Amino acid sequence: MKAVIYNKPGDVSVEKIADPKIQDERDVILRVTKSAVCGSDLHFYRGIVPMDEGFVVGHEFMGVIEEVGKGARGLKKGDRVVAPFWVSCGSCVHCKNGLPTSCGGGGGCFGFGEGFGGYGGGQAEFVRVALADTTLEKVPEKIEDEKLLFLGDVFSTSYYCAELADIKPGQTVVIYGDGPLGLLAVPSARLFGAAEIIVVGHHKYRLDMAKKAGADTVINSSKEDATERIMDITGGVGADAALECIGSQDALLDTFKVTRPGGVISFIGLFLEPVPVPMLDFYLKNFTLRGGVCPAKNYITKLLPLVENGTVDPSFIITHDLPLADTPKGYEIMDKRTDNAVKVVLTP
Ligand SMILES: [Zn+2]
Ligand SMILES: [Zn+2]
Repeated sequence: MKAVIYNKPGDVSVEKIADPKIQDERDVILRVTKSAVCGSDLHFYRGIVPMDEGFVVGHEFMGVIEEVGKGARGLKKGDRVVAPFWVSCGSCVHCKNGLPTSCGGGGGCFGFGEGFGGYGGGQAEFVRVALADTTLEKVPEKIEDEKLLFLGDVFSTSYYCAELADIKPGQTVVIYGDGPLGLLAVPSARLFGAAEIIVVGHHKYRLDMAKKAGADTVINSSKEDATERIMDITGGVGADAALECIGSQDALLDTFKVTRPGGVISFIGLFLEPVPVPMLDFYLKNFTLRGGVCPAKNYITKLLPLVENGTVDPSFIITHDLPLADTPKGYEIMDKRTDNAVKVVLTP
């Protein structure tokens, strides 16, 4: 099969490698129909997180089951499924506590190397899914891949960020980030009843998309002081909730400046370095800070009805649909923010 292989920072390539095989009775082999380059793939692409040379990458994918291990109960050849980015056993204490991303029963992330479970990724024609009966979620036939794909990662993650922020109807919400997560946080915050949604970013083409997605105000932080503007909009009070959708220390520290006393700060960005949290502000303003990796498995079936009935169409973030062979170009344009790229999806 053809698959996307990590070579070294700044270098992925499409190679012909052996087809994956069933190794355990709970495995399935999935024929990938659509996958995506995720913002977190850029971490190894930029050399910020280590990755094994020669490893098949990609953790956002969906497809049709091609082959089923005899212990993968409830799944059959031909089933259409979305994969959350994390493999989980469904029966360990963490899975039972609702955190499949902490699974201690063989859990791990697709496409992130041996350090994350060694599960080959989905930027490929086929992928082996371990613990498939408790990892995969079936999806209906009649909806396009483009609308379903992000249930496995970015849409669920953005929704999770809004949910953690405990948004109440009528509230003002600030979203930091104009990438796929920030953009999908706009309809997510609206679902919880946010009345005023402010998006802070620094790419005009992305902020235009945020506006189209329903943001009431967009602020280009490379052109104006976002903190000042947000305090103006909120009459000097601050926003009820701030969502950090980047993984940027500057943005996280800014959330402490624009959130009202008693407000909630939630984050789904990935912080690779410690952040000096201003504990005195935290203390004097009684903030709540919540965040973490999204247990996406739990959100696929929860959010599916919203996609099915057209309440949210997450496909609006897609700017490029490339053949698998062009994946290296997909990484490059997402990394360099060229060609007005926001989200690149891949068709094997
Ligand atoms: Zn991801
Ligand atoms: Zn588990």
